[in-house]
Amino acid sequence: MIEDKNQQRTQLNDLGEFGLIEHLTKNFKLNQKSTVKGIGDDAAVLNFDNKQVIVTTDLLVEGVHFDLSYMPLKHLGYKAIIVNLSDVFAMNAKATQVTVSIAVSNRFPLEALEDLYAGIETAANIYGIDVIGGDTTSSNKGLLISVTAIGEIEPKNEVYRSGAKPNDLLVVSGDLGAAYMGLQVLEREKEVYKVNPNSQPDLEAYSYIIERQLKPEARKDIIKLLEDLDVKPTSMIDVSDGLSSEIIHICKQSKVGCDLYENKIPLDPQVISTCEEFNIDSTTVALNGGEDYELLFTVSQDDFPKIKANPNLSIIGFMKEEKEGIHLVTRADTRIPIKAQGWKNFND
Ligand code: ADP
Ligand code: MG
Repeated sequence: MIEDKNQQRTQLNDLGEFGLIEHLTKNFKLNQKSTVKGIGDDAAVLNFDNKQVIVTTDLLVEGVHFDLSYMPLKHLGYKAIIVNLSDVFAMNAKATQVTVSIAVSNRFPLEALEDLYAGIETAANIYGIDVIGGDTTSSNKGLLISVTAIGEIEPKNEVYRSGAKPNDLLVVSGDLGAAYMGLQVLEREKEVYKVNPNSQPDLEAYSYIIERQLKPEARKDIIKLLEDLDVKPTSMIDVSDGLSSEIIHICKQSKVGCDLYENKIPLDPQVISTCEEFNIDSTTVALNGGEDYELLFTVSQDDFPKIKANPNLSIIGFMKEEKEGIHLVTRADTRIPIKAQGWKNFND
């Protein structure tokens, strides 16, 4: 697995805090014209002219949000950025900068942090954002990563969770449930590894779902697509906790109801086959799995011709009057109330 005893291990104490920050961030380039001053002073300086500024933050805790026995640190760094950018895109905004703060125990050598920062740098380059600062401190146990993402948007383009109207179409990008099923496979392999550390798992059949768990992407492309199609969603949210809780957020904040059609939920064939193997219902996985980082949004029916044929978008339901409630319309045409489950981090 991840820890390779032959790897070089440089103690963090050998560098000191300033040496460490300098070492980890020295290759970072600045891409955004709104970044006036990046890493290296007491604070960063940004200039957004007349744009509105988007700010969002997420905290990832070892043992709660990630497990380093199957999550390579490079992927973790990448994912820590992605989950924040996804929130910026869910506002229909452009992501521009991030700050990255870490608390790290002395169990981690410098080489581990280099891997983490390689993932952060890769995500920053792919998404064209600047890493403009952060904080570095020690922790008694484990690793914590806090990322704050910053974005910009013209006021007229903002999309909130609260704008959905009855009769709007409910649309989701990509497919759902894969990250959750990838996690199930990785958890199973971890158990196998505990019993037999020499086992060589063949994960070929699960490549897509494992990638969705370990290396998710944020749907910057969908924001561009909507702009190109000249479609402004009436409401939008990213799918981090699972489809059902995200639908409930939109419905509650927009004061509308919803019919979600089970047979319209987009599932990758690997999700379907892995659900069969694990004897789990694929609709339950799509509704409650989470970590898909797809965009869920509503559009006016007038926009139907613009989105109907797009392979990246699935129309999965209709918004209703609030009093009609929030329901899953099953393949058997029965209506089941949708309840949120999402991740139960506080119960673990
Ligand atoms: P201060 O003492 O003012 O908090 P630091 O020495 O912590 O300053 O940080 C120096 C510079 O390095 C600042 O620009 C800060 O934002 C940046 N920085 C610190 N830690 C990190 C990190 N983990 N990742 C990226 N930048 C960092
Ligand atoms: Mg500091």
